[in-house]
Amino acid sequence: MPTIYLSLGTNLGQRQQNLLRALAGLDEEMVITAVSPIYQTPPWGMTNQPDFLNLCLSATTKLAPLPLLHFTQRLEQWLGREETVRWGPRLIDIDILFYDDLVWCSPELTIPHPQIGQRAFVLIPLADIAPDLVHPQTGQTVRQMATAVDAAGVIAIKQNNKKEVETRRVPDFPPLGGEPSRV
Ligand code: AMP
Repeated sequence: MPTIYLSLGTNLGQRQQNLLRALAGLDEEMVITAVSPIYQTPPWGMTNQPDFLNLCLSATTKLAPLPLLHFTQRLEQWLGREETVRWGPRLIDIDILFYDDLVWCSPELTIPHPQIGQRAFVLIPLADIAPDLVHPQTGQTVRQMATAVDAAGVIAIKQNNKKEVETRRVPDFPPLGGEPSRV
């Protein structure tokens, strides 16, 4: 099964709760294999908004790339995300960072995520769970990218406990329907 890496972020409402609910929803369509600590990070792009909480996870999934994107988008909406300006405040944001060593570029989806190299809020938590992961386009490891980025203000606030994730299922999150979702 393909191995994927996702980044989760939130800066509205009950932020830790948002992350845990997102993990529980994701768990419906993947096997989560590692979850980074939660980091508090300063806002990026648009700076006059609350700090974010961020984490990264690895998982295996049978979902092909586009169905995976549609699943994460549906989960974002189900968790209560509303449309906002680019880089604006958000209840939950789920980005696909890597999908095996796939390089994919379409109007809807770019893999690896194009901004990984500039984002400390992605690279610092990702380095906790996958320091030796190699970017398929640049050949750099996550550790190398993480040391090159400005990590000011990126603070680990909570170790994540996979058991906590597993016990927090979202029982009423509906399963995928309609589109052919499997590889
Ligand atoms: P955001 O505001 O960060 O949630 O951006 C969402 C938009 O980015 C959507 O229109 C997606 O189709 C697009 N997108 C492109 N590549 C990715 C990716 N690797 N992961 C998540 N969204 C992506």
